Amino acid sequence: MTADPSRELVSSYFPGARSEGERRLRNEIDATLDHWFRWRSGRFEDSASNDAAPASGAPLHEGDRLGRRLLTLCDALTAETPTFSPRYIAHMKADLSLPGLLGWFAAMLHNPNNSSRDASRVGSVIETEAIAALAGMLGYDPAQAQGHFTSGGTVANFEAVWRARYRLDHWLALALHISETDGAPLDPFAAAHMGWNQFRHLQTLYGVPDDVLKSCSAAASNPGDVWRRISRASGRDYRGPIMLVPGNRHYSWSKSANVFGLGGEAIWSVALDKGGHLDLANFERQVERAQADGRPILMAVAVAGATETGAIDPLDRLYDRLDLWRAERGWRIWRHVDAAYGGFLRAMLDGPSEATLAPETAAALRAMGRSDSITIDPHKLGYVPYACGAFLTPDAEHYAVSAFDAPYLDRPELGDGKWSSTLEGSRSAAGAAATWLTAETLGFGADGLGALMATTVETRQAFEAAVREAVPEACFLPADSNIACFSLARAGEALSHSNVRTQAVFDHFQRSPHFAVSKTTLGADNAALIANLLSGHGGYNDRSEGDAGMLVIRCVFMNPYWSDSSVRHDLLPRFIEELRRALAGPDEAKAA
Ligand SMILES: *Cc1c(COP(=O)(O)O)cnc(C)c1O
Repeated sequence: MTADPSRELVSSYFPGARSEGERRLRNEIDATLDHWFRWRSGRFEDSASNDAAPASGAPLHEGDRLGRRLLTLCDALTAETPTFSPRYIAHMKADLSLPGLLGWFAAMLHNPNNSSRDASRVGSVIETEAIAALAGMLGYDPAQAQGHFTSGGTVANFEAVWRARYRLDHWLALALHISETDGAPLDPFAAAHMGWNQFRHLQTLYGVPDDVLKSCSAAASNPGDVWRRISRASGRDYRGPIMLVPGNRHYSWSKSANVFGLGGEAIWSVALDKGGHLDLANFERQVERAQADGRPILMAVAVAGATETGAIDPLDRLYDRLDLWRAERGWRIWRHVDAAYGGFLRAMLDGPSEATLAPETAAALRAMGRSDSITIDPHKLGYVPYACGAFLTPDAEHYAVSAFDAPYLDRPELGDGKWSSTLEGSRSAAGAAATWLTAETLGFGADGLGALMATTVETRQAFEAAVREAVPEACFLPADSNIACFSLARAGEALSHSNVRTQAVFDHFQRSPHFAVSKTTLGADNAALIANLLSGHGGYNDRSEGDAGMLVIRCVFMNPYWSDSSVRHDLLPRFIEELRRALAGPDEAKAA
C-alpha cells in the first residue's frame, strides 16, 4: 500500500470535508468536558455536586497521538488556579457563564474574521447587535452608537486615544493653517478644543482642501516639523498634548502614551480624594495649568471600577464641570470612561437593585452615557471567555478615525468592514457572539446581569461587615462596588508596622489551599485616602514622601456563586477563621 502521508494527516487532524471526523471530535470534546468536570468536583471537599452525575461519554483515550497528547494537556491544566470556585477571590476572574461559553463555542466552530464583512457575513452582524446591546446598557442610544470588540480593555483604551487624537489633530491642523495664512497668533489650547461645527465653518470659510490640512497635521505629516510650526505660530515652545488620567488608572494608560508617541510626561496624574476617587478640584487645577502652558488636553479619563479598589469616579460632577466649560468657553474636551471592570455595574440602575449602590455611585454610573467613548471588558464582569473587550462611542462622528486602504479586503457590494477603523487586524467573532448570547438570555437589564451584579456588591458588603465584627485589626478602604480592600492595623500604630502585618497575612493566604486573595499597594496618588485611613485608627505615616505606600489585601467578589446564601453562610466564617489563624501565625509572631 502506497499511503499518501498527507491524506493520513488530514484524516487524523481535521473534521473532514464530508465530516468523517464527526464522531472523533464529539468524543474528544465529551472526554475533555468529562476531565474538566472531574477536576472541578474533586478540587475542594465542598465543590462536588450532591447529585454528581457519573462521568458520561468516552474517557480520554490513549489510542493515538492526538488522544494521548490531549490527555497530557488536560492533565497539565488541572494545575490551573481553580477560579471557578467562590473560594477564589484574588483577581477579576470567575467561572464563565453558559451563554458566554456556548456563544463562544458556536462562533469558534465557524471562525469568522470580523475584520471585514467579506470574511464574516454573520459574525459582523452579531458584533453590531452585541455592541448595540452594550450601548443600551451603558447609556448610549443603541441606534446611534458605534463600536467594536477588541482583545481587551488595553486595546479598547488605545482605540479611544486613537480617535481623540484624530479629532484634536484635525482641529489643531486647521487652526495652524489659518494662523500661518492670516498671521494671527495661534492659541493651541483653544484651537485643539474648537468642536466640529467650528471646524467645518472655518474649513469652508477659508476653503482649506484636505491635502493642505494633511500637511499641517502632526499625525499625517512630520510631527517634529508641525510642532515647530505651532511654536512659531503661537510665539512659544509647543510641548504637545497631555492626557488627564486619575491616579487609580490602569497601567494601559502609560502604555498608550508610549505607543502613541506622547512620552510618559504627557500623562498628567489627577490626584485622588480621601475616598479614592478622582479629585475634581485637582482636575480643575490641572486643566488651568494645561491652558496656561498651552498644552491641549487629548482626553480626560475617568475610571468606573478601578482595577485595584473598584472605585467609581464622580462622572456626573466631572461632566457637569466639562459641560459648563463647553458652554462658557467653547472647550470640547474628549471624555473617556475606562469602565473595563465596572461597566456592567450600570445594569443595576433603574431596578430594585440600584439601592444596593451608594447614591453617589449610582449617579456616577448614570452619567456614563455623557462620555465621548467607553471601554468595557465582557471578559471581566460579563463572564465571557478571554480575550474580549469592547470600545464604544455615542455616534459615528466620535467613532471616526483615519481610514487606511487595503484593497484586498474591500468589496463595496459587501459594505464597509471594520478593518480600517480598528487597531487590530484579524478579529475573532467569538467574543461578540458570547456577549450577544448573554444579552439575549441573561440580559443586560436590572433583572438579568444587573441582579447578578447586585449580589456581588451585597457579598462584598456582607464580607466587610462580618470581617469588621470579628477582626478588630481589619481596616477597610471605602468601597463602591464588589472589591474589598483592607489592611491589618492596630490603634496608634505606624504604617510600616501595619504593612508588615498585612504582608504576613497575605503570605499566609498564599500558602493556604482554602482561599486565594490578592494584594496591592496604594501609592503616592492615594495620599489623601491613606491619611484618611490612618486617622481612623489613630495611626501615623512613618514613611518618607514618595514611599508612602499602604499595603492592602484585595478580595474581588465577582464569583456568581456567592449569591447563594448557603455559600456565604459556609465560607464567610471559614474565611474569618483563616484570617485569625494568619494573624496569629508564625509570620505575625516574627513581625511583632
Ligand atoms: C482590566 C482593566 C484594563 C485592561 O484590560 P485588559 O482586558 O486586561 O487589557 C483597563 N482598565 C481597567 C480599569 C481595567 O480594570
